[in-house]
Amino acid sequence: MSVSQLARSIKASPTLKLNETAAKLREKGEPVIHLGGGEPKSKAPLDAVLNCATQLNTGEVRYAPADGLPALKKAILRYTEENYGRLLAPQNVVVSSGAKQSIMSLLYAILEPKDEVVYPAPYWVSYPEMVKLAGGVPVAVTPEDGSFVPAVPDIADKVGSYTKAIILNSPNNPSGILYPADFVAEMVEFCEKKNLWLVMDDLYNRLVFDGQKAPNPYDYARQAPDQSKLVVVQGISKMYAMTGFRIGWALASREVAEAMTNIQSHQTSGPVTVSQWAAIGALSGVQTPIESLRLTLENQRNVMVERLQTIPGLHVTKPNGTFYCFPDFSGYVKDSQKLAELLLDRVRVVTVPGREFGMDGHLRLSYCGTIKEIMDGVERIKWALDPNAPNELFLGDRKLVRDWA
Ligand code: PMP
Repeated sequence: MSVSQLARSIKASPTLKLNETAAKLREKGEPVIHLGGGEPKSKAPLDAVLNCATQLNTGEVRYAPADGLPALKKAILRYTEENYGRLLAPQNVVVSSGAKQSIMSLLYAILEPKDEVVYPAPYWVSYPEMVKLAGGVPVAVTPEDGSFVPAVPDIADKVGSYTKAIILNSPNNPSGILYPADFVAEMVEFCEKKNLWLVMDDLYNRLVFDGQKAPNPYDYARQAPDQSKLVVVQGISKMYAMTGFRIGWALASREVAEAMTNIQSHQTSGPVTVSQWAAIGALSGVQTPIESLRLTLENQRNVMVERLQTIPGLHVTKPNGTFYCFPDFSGYVKDSQKLAELLLDRVRVVTVPGREFGMDGHLRLSYCGTIKEIMDGVERIKWALDPNAPNELFLGDRKLVRDWA
């Protein structure tokens, strides 16, 4: 028995796999600290829960249209007008089962076999696999200057006759870095000039710190919505802490939105109706949960960065958004896979190897857990790596003694 060549080319999602590993170790009573997670811990907004529960109480849960319930599309259009200043039509909105599906449906809708899709490193783990699934060729661009901020010429260098699309994710998973407005402006202009699709993965754009605001790509778009190849991807997973509901959406020209809808109609049909009711509640209800999550994360970011900075030789770039930090550990161990295994093995801290995001030597650490988890997690990492740290460490009631240099 053998699976297809395509299936063989696709890796499991490393982040989902790590969740499983952490859960299994916890079940065995191991004192695991999970700094590898990708979801905020706050509860879903009350308005989301109430709207969902009220509708659910009727007992009538039917198929939704393949592109989403009209009421949800209306709420998304209002959200887009309020937060992006862009007036779109319902035909420009495709609701999906998570932003993951939005990106996947879009790639299916626009890629010809062997078309290239370019994106800066570090990048979200799923981009290369999604591009391959849709028959395309992933092309990562690593910033020349070793920073997390891509430069337009570095990207332009990788754009050739096979390039069909560029994906930008800012603030960025895994670096937490917000791309500057002039970079976004230049990329919008570049893609319009070169007739390329520009996918703005804006999933974290409300979770930005230090008084900054994520640049709005529509501010720089000259083409009308139905002529434009700019596609904005959004969702409720991160900003409302509603990961399990699995609702995301794409804002695109009518032509591509219709193609995406046709694809979804055979793939999953419409997203789960119950989750769409919750999304309507979240988008139409009070918006304070976003701000309170943002403030909590900013505080947690400060604690994590402060603690990390006490580890000698570690290079930490302060994130200005998301709930991730992507320090450079290459002064200790260059192979990020080995380092992540070592930390899990020795001190039971789950991290995600930078290699998965296209940058070895780094680890992605999440600060979406509790302050205690962040402080204890970084303490354990420091203990495992820094030869000058105290010789003993307690994991719960287990005493560890350093038996390595
Ligand atoms: N884009 C980025 C950059 C992400 O980090 C994620 C989730 N980790 C997604 C898209 C997909 O989010 P969801 O499917 O939960 O809406």
